[in-house]
Amino acid sequence: MRLVLLGAPGSGKGTQAKRLAEKYGLPHVSTGDILRVGFGEGAYIDRETREVVRSGGLVPDRIAVEIVKKRLEEEDCRKGFILDGFPRTLAQAESLNGFFKESNRAIDRVIYLELSEQEAVKRLSGRRICPRCGATFHLVFNPPRIPGLCDQCRARLSQREDDSELTVRERMKTYQKETYPLIEYYQSRGLLAKIDVNRGIEEVFEDLCKVLDGGN
Ligand code: AMP
Repeated sequence: MRLVLLGAPGSGKGTQAKRLAEKYGLPHVSTGDILRVGFGEGAYIDRETREVVRSGGLVPDRIAVEIVKKRLEEEDCRKGFILDGFPRTLAQAESLNGFFKESNRAIDRVIYLELSEQEAVKRLSGRRICPRCGATFHLVFNPPRIPGLCDQCRARLSQREDDSELTVRERMKTYQKETYPLIEYYQSRGLLAKIDVNRGIEEVFEDLCKVLDGGN
């Protein structure tokens, strides 16, 4: 299964992708996560790229495509994968098509996690992440068992640099302009399924599994 999750920042792509990855035994490929790891120790992402992410813009297509191609060529992605946060522009979608054509592969399904902008902003402001293991939480919708600490590794939770109010607004603008057209792009190719995500994590997950198991 080669799956793409599409949706605005805050729509729960990462949360759902992690769960799906576990259930279906597929690698979760998040360009945002790969970029953030690249900011850390032995960083291979330059300062300019880091600044783009911090300010809520998109890194150049060339860089995003390179990151994703490298990852999809790894052995564990042969059986399939869940793409989260890529493609984010029409040019990236076209590059992905070209990449797959070369190896006689194709995307099987694109699922659009549909959420109002107002709700997305609310979700992002309450998001907390574990800087050590990458687990994600939400102060209201998915709180950690001990306030401020990760359930899995007990590290102190933090807020993502780009989840501040100003940056969130910028990310929403970028999403509307660059990523939203992908919905029509994949719909016209008969690949798109829409899921209303104005509900709890469990209910959304059940719906996702129904789409994937039933081929709806
Ligand atoms: P995410 O974790 O998916 O919200 O991504 C965090 C940030 O990483 C985005 O706001 C962008 O700055 C950058 N990023 C992630 N994926 C891409 C992509 N496919 N193309 C360009 N920039 C990306």
